Amino acid sequence: MTIKAILFDFDDTLGNREEYSHRTYAQRVEEIMPDADPWLKETVIQMALIYDQHGDVPKKYVRERLIKMQGVDLGEDFPDYWPEHQCENVVLYEDAMPTIEELKRRGYLVGILSNGDSYGQHRKIDKCGLDKVMDAITVSGDTDTHKPDPKIFIMTADKLGVKPEECAFVGDMFSRDVYGAHLAGMMPIWIWPHGDRDCRLPEVTQIHRLAELLDLFKG
Ligand SMILES: [Mg+2]
Repeated sequence: MTIKAILFDFDDTLGNREEYSHRTYAQRVEEIMPDADPWLKETVIQMALIYDQHGDVPKKYVRERLIKMQGVDLGEDFPDYWPEHQCENVVLYEDAMPTIEELKRRGYLVGILSNGDSYGQHRKIDKCGLDKVMDAITVSGDTDTHKPDPKIFIMTADKLGVKPEECAFVGDMFSRDVYGAHLAGMMPIWIWPHGDRDCRLPEVTQIHRLAELLDLFKG
């Protein structure tokens, strides 16, 4: 089946989440412990990034782990602080917009399917200007389900007027993005900018940079 549409996850796929998450944790650490040694501050940020698990856990959990392991409290309001400041700090991978624009020029439809709360995810997507270039955007908070439920993948294909088999889905998280795309009948592409990940399934295409999509989809 010919691929007609390329769908993307947002965080850690189009958005350089590592960058904006580091900035957001660093901002909070600066506010709560301004006079601490810079090495201690960086250690707290690095531990927070590990507990954060690429955004797969609630911020309440990150806060509790840091209190328990580091004796540092990010504050009771941290779960609300997070979406506001993530939006302020959000930044795309450098090749994201040029790759999307070239895929569109080659005739592909493009879309986003992101898990998260409506307010925070749409604000980040809009701030990066992606609302103006995408043919469809689905945020799980707008619906009654989330990735990896194949229903939300099919819902996004429907918005584009294509069949799931005509879609490729690019995402960083295996359990939500790659598995969900597979369940929906889409072509899964696993992106990870930090080298190869071990995967024994031959159907899974792995890439490290978005620009590699231009070698896979020539129009
Ligand atoms: Mg992601």
